[in-house]
Amino acid sequence: MPTCQNCFRTLKWKHTGAHFFWIHSSITCPFCGATQYPAARERKIEIGISQLILVLIFIYHIATDNSAVTIGLFSVEILAYAAFHPLLLKISNQKEKLF
Ligand SMILES: [Zn+2]
Repeated sequence: MPTCQNCFRTLKWKHTGAHFFWIHSSITCPFCGATQYPAARERKIEIGISQLILVLIFIYHIATDNSAVTIGLFSVEILAYAAFHPLLLKISNQKEKLF
């Protein structure tokens, strides 16, 4: 779970779960009110995982040609990503450049 770099308290899933698409945004620490940003390394990993999900869905759709299963698989992958994203998230006090 992410730790605030200002007060060093660990944020809970409910604080970060709603922000799992926050590649270009920030989150406010519920304990001290400091603005926190996702670390650049974490944003790169998020982008890689997002692209991997899309490639896997595309390959699966080509292999099976079943749209209903493809949409179901996509939904499951997105929900799994949203559930586990806060566990891997690292945050920082400063907005870091992606590259
Ligand atoms: Zn804090």
